[in-house]
Amino acid sequence: MQRSTNLIGLNIDEITDLLISAGFNGSYGNKISRWIYRKQVKSLNEINDIPKRIVNEIIALNGDILSDIAFKRFPGADGSVRYLFTNAEGQNYESIFMDNGKRKTLCVSTQAGCRMGCKFCMTGSIGFRGNLSAGRIVEQLLAIPERKLVNRIVLMGMGEPFDNYDEVTKALDIFTADWGAALGKSNITLSTVGILNGLERFLKELKCNLAISLHSPFPDERAQLLPSEHKNPINDMVALLKRYPIGKPLRLSFEYVALGGVNLSHEHAKAIAELLKGLKYHINIIPWNEHSAANYSQPTSEELNNFTRLLNQYGVLWTIRQSKGNEVGAACGQMAGKN
Ligand code: SF4
Repeated sequence: MQRSTNLIGLNIDEITDLLISAGFNGSYGNKISRWIYRKQVKSLNEINDIPKRIVNEIIALNGDILSDIAFKRFPGADGSVRYLFTNAEGQNYESIFMDNGKRKTLCVSTQAGCRMGCKFCMTGSIGFRGNLSAGRIVEQLLAIPERKLVNRIVLMGMGEPFDNYDEVTKALDIFTADWGAALGKSNITLSTVGILNGLERFLKELKCNLAISLHSPFPDERAQLLPSEHKNPINDMVALLKRYPIGKPLRLSFEYVALGGVNLSHEHAKAIAELLKGLKYHINIIPWNEHSAANYSQPTSEELNNFTRLLNQYGVLWTIRQSKGNEVGAACGQMAGKN
């Protein structure tokens, strides 16, 4: 099925240009983008402050919003909901809505599959099936029933955001702009393995919080877990982070998947503190979730307690991220686009 010029994913300038090329007044662009991204209507027919003939003409030319996306909904007992999207291009990808009281977070995908091949990750094991356009990224928010509740977005679903830099940053503009969804930049976090040229661009533009996948402070060991380390050394990343510091209200964090018997030793805690000295950051520890595509062990509570005690000793701030959505295959590292 050929995708029409669905308005989702267009920025205000593009919507304005579209109106002008259809022979209408471009000043309606601001209203239309607010109806789509801020009021989050499911159909353009809900617009009531623009002449109906203009709305009808836009629908005739471009189709209605959300007209070519399908999804399945998998609710979990812990309040999380996994969404499996299938778009008109035939790509499958996932989002997870997580309800933590006041924090209502949506974790979105930036690619269908991923080519980074991280050894502990289910998504990495299925390979790369294509980039998602800005529209397909933003649509993951606009399509779901909880869309108006969401107050946080994390780009931590399928894919490496810096491997799809332009579409991801366009989506970030739509999420944060006044004419867009108007979410605060500090309520959005992009997670990356750290592709160096993307990281440098991002640090200059700073569109949201940044989380870098660390997983080991030792380059050799990190390369075994994240093959991207070979071309994008963690030491070079740290040098960039020092050159372009992230200031308040935005935050820098490091993701650390806790693998039983692998990366939770005294040497690891000490090396983390040394590697990241001089940066303002905290570490998000993510206990590994078992799945069929990788052969690691979940950390014991004793290992985790010991590791966090050592981090305290070295002055490293940390939190342990509770994995949500485990039972519906939506926990960190489990996304595989499966039914
Ligand atoms: S952890 Fe992220 S970057 Fe690595 S393979 Fe999985 S989805 Fe890709």
